[in-house]
Amino acid sequence: MISATYDSKVQDHDVIRKLSEHDVICHDCMQKILDDVDKTRV
Ligand SMILES: [Zn+2]
Repeated sequence: MISATYDSKVQDHDVIRKLSEHDVICHDCMQKILDDVDKTRV
């Protein structure tokens, strides 16, 4: 489960929410999500 290591903003991301607990996400997609979340933090 990837989301456990990330904060609630990442866990609330649409892509993450669509994943089941046992799905995996590749590094590139995870980085995209983190970039998205960073934009919302400003
Ligand atoms: Zn990917």
